[in-house]
Amino acid sequence: MSDGPAVPSDDVFPDSGSVAIERHWHEECGVFGIFPHPDASHLTYLGLHALQHRGQESAGIVTTDGERLRSRLAMGLVQDVFDGNTLDELKGHGAIGHVRYSTTGSSTPDNIQPFFGNYAGGHIALAHNGNLINADQLKHELEARGALFRGTSDTEVILYLAIQSKQSSATDRIIEALGQVKGAYSLVVMTDESLIAVRDPHGFRPLVLGKVKDAYVVASETCAFRLVDADYVREVEPGEVIEITRDGLKSYFPWGKSTPTARCIFEYVYFARPDSLIYQRNVYVVRREMGRILAREAPVAADVIVPVPDSGVPAAIGFSEVSGIPYQTGLIRSHYVGRTFIEPRDSIRNFGVRLKLSPVHEVLRGQRVVVVDDSIVRGTTSRKLVHLFRKAGAVEVHMRISSPPTIGSCYYGVDTPNREELIASKQSVDEIRDYLGADSLAYLSLDGMRDAAGNHDGYCDACFTGRYPVAVGEPSVAQLPLFTSHPELPVAPP
Ligand code: AMP
Repeated sequence: MSDGPAVPSDDVFPDSGSVAIERHWHEECGVFGIFPHPDASHLTYLGLHALQHRGQESAGIVTTDGERLRSRLAMGLVQDVFDGNTLDELKGHGAIGHVRYSTTGSSTPDNIQPFFGNYAGGHIALAHNGNLINADQLKHELEARGALFRGTSDTEVILYLAIQSKQSSATDRIIEALGQVKGAYSLVVMTDESLIAVRDPHGFRPLVLGKVKDAYVVASETCAFRLVDADYVREVEPGEVIEITRDGLKSYFPWGKSTPTARCIFEYVYFARPDSLIYQRNVYVVRREMGRILAREAPVAADVIVPVPDSGVPAAIGFSEVSGIPYQTGLIRSHYVGRTFIEPRDSIRNFGVRLKLSPVHEVLRGQRVVVVDDSIVRGTTSRKLVHLFRKAGAVEVHMRISSPPTIGSCYYGVDTPNREELIASKQSVDEIRDYLGADSLAYLSLDGMRDAAGNHDGYCDACFTGRYPVAVGEPSVAQLPLFTSHPELPVAPP
């Protein structure tokens, strides 16, 4: 259990219980890179600012002037970590940056990214979004050969593998290093004279390419491009390695193109910002469509639709459009509290629901209310909301969830608790409805979610299906027969 400062006790649901979470290395993150640009550090700052929703625990920028690297890495929000002076000191025409979101086991300054070091040909820095599933094993092997790791992050393994590689170019070193790892990686790598962007062959995590004047930019989401006035060029494709130098851009597919893609569908459900294009579709449009389909699949007689802000908003609008029931802002979100999941300890998270969301009694009193949220994880948020809505005078509370029941943990970079803590892994929809105290509960169907995402193939939806595209024990890309299709998807979780 945590030994942090005391927090107010959970007086609304003293029985809701808090469970110690054993997780490490799981993280969602945002990455950004730019090359070559005279204002590289300032634009990276803006890019990270736009990606702040992907990680609020730490931020870092590393720049290059062609001869040396400069860095600023610290715990905290982007706006607190950097100021004008720091950014001026981060001189150079190339920069990469990272925002990080982690959980209990790895919440230390040693794990702040980007990681950087020297190799025989110069300097190398890298920032990673995703999660490697064989990092432990590789780390033990590297330690046995004398490597000293700064922190506990899986990303450091990639850096060491690249530094130890016998390949001459930095790009080949990175490719060789990635041939040994398994799992999810969207990476930005910077050397003295290049920016390299890589997406793993399944394309688990998003990564996009843009252009601002003569410079290329790479980011987790397109929302980072708006703030720096960059034009969207395209997605970095699954399995693609892009090398950007002063001479332009080169693209490689060192592992072939035939691995079935497994783009994370949860980016649409919750993680990405609604103004972003993810996998070439706008997130807002997909979420609203999820709500529209949900309204057709699970209609209910009610007086008002209320979203759980912010992630439930587009789906609630879609639900309202199809059902004809008016949409109202019946819950106010405090913008001075981070996402409740960001708090690593359950005790804070439990209290956080009330810190963060407050009901508007005038909207709810005497009403039959449909509450729309994007997902239920442990059930803590929904249970408290049902209780708050009833206290505010709602006569009926119907929960509608714009994704299917979350039944599996994510091993590819989204922070989810252990399977046992996911309420839908143990309880039926009716049991969950009773636990929440709602009058009714309905989830979007798997087909409905896939229809809204515009495609039934090419996504990883393991958190909803338990079908994991890459299981522990499977070979890394270097061990797979190259340029052939991937083996059948295993059904068992790792
Ligand atoms: P819970 O209270 O555990 O059921 O969490 C449900 C709430 O967490 C919902 O309002 C979701 O919007 C939000 N949520 C779902 N998945 C995540 C995630 N991976 N990170 C942060 N928040 C999440």
